[in-house]
Amino acid sequence: MTTTSDTTATVLLEASHISVRFGGVTAADDINLTVRQGEVLGVIGSNGSGKSTFLNLCTGYIRPAAGAIRFRGQPITHLSPRAITRLGIARAFQHPQLFLDKTVLESIVLGVACRNRFWSLRTVFQPDYRRKADTIVDTFGLGDYANIVNSELPEGVKKLSDIALAMALEPSLLLLDEPTSSVSSANKFVIMDTLMPILRDSGVTAIIVEHDMEIVERYMDRVVAWDSGQIIAEGAFADIMHNEDVRQRVTG
Ligand code: ADP
Ligand code: MG
Repeated sequence: MTTTSDTTATVLLEASHISVRFGGVTAADDINLTVRQGEVLGVIGSNGSGKSTFLNLCTGYIRPAAGAIRFRGQPITHLSPRAITRLGIARAFQHPQLFLDKTVLESIVLGVACRNRFWSLRTVFQPDYRRKADTIVDTFGLGDYANIVNSELPEGVKKLSDIALAMALEPSLLLLDEPTSSVSSANKFVIMDTLMPILRDSGVTAIIVEHDMEIVERYMDRVVAWDSGQIIAEGAFADIMHNEDVRQRVTG
């Protein structure tokens, strides 16, 4: 049974009246958005509509000209990216930002160490971290690539490795910016079919910017559509796409 207080308790992230301008471009124009605990929220919209800007705001890379973002009720808009990561928000990028000269396993060990605020290279490979990293590598099906240097991975595996690295930080909110871009159409489903059970099992909430409508339709619990820095529609994929104007603006 859901009561009013239960509903309040399930809000994980709340953006209120967020505005961002870059010169003459309005990248966020009075954005209001609530993200609930445990949901996988898809963010769609044409190029330049402000999707990545929103993720940059949530991770402290950009400060808004107006408005606030709260995470578990705590304002985070003034915090550094590192402080925000510590609170439990982790991110993977459209172009993976891996430790390119490290192997998959090494970089995930570093992620685990980072989560534990332990960066001494002498002790980073302690058995505890190694065990945790092995588990993450297995969960993401990366066993065959564990000893391969990130820069040499096929594109789809690189994306998964980057997401695994973000998950090594044990976030409660995972932000992904186009996790299936530049990946073959067969492999994009592999990425999502690997990721979704991990999110569901761990209860991690996700905001996923995605261009591919097949992926959005198949995997997202709820969708928000962006255009010119504004949210123009919010709801189930089928309901949003039912509206011809929205369909044109997000896919145009
Ligand atoms: P999307 O991810 O939806 O493609 P972005 O959020 O990257 O869009 O960009 C929204 C708008 O803001 C675009 O017009 C883009 O050129 C501009 N923009 C984004 N980041 C910056 C920045 N750091 N400096 C200047 N303009 C930016
Ligand atoms: Mg973008």
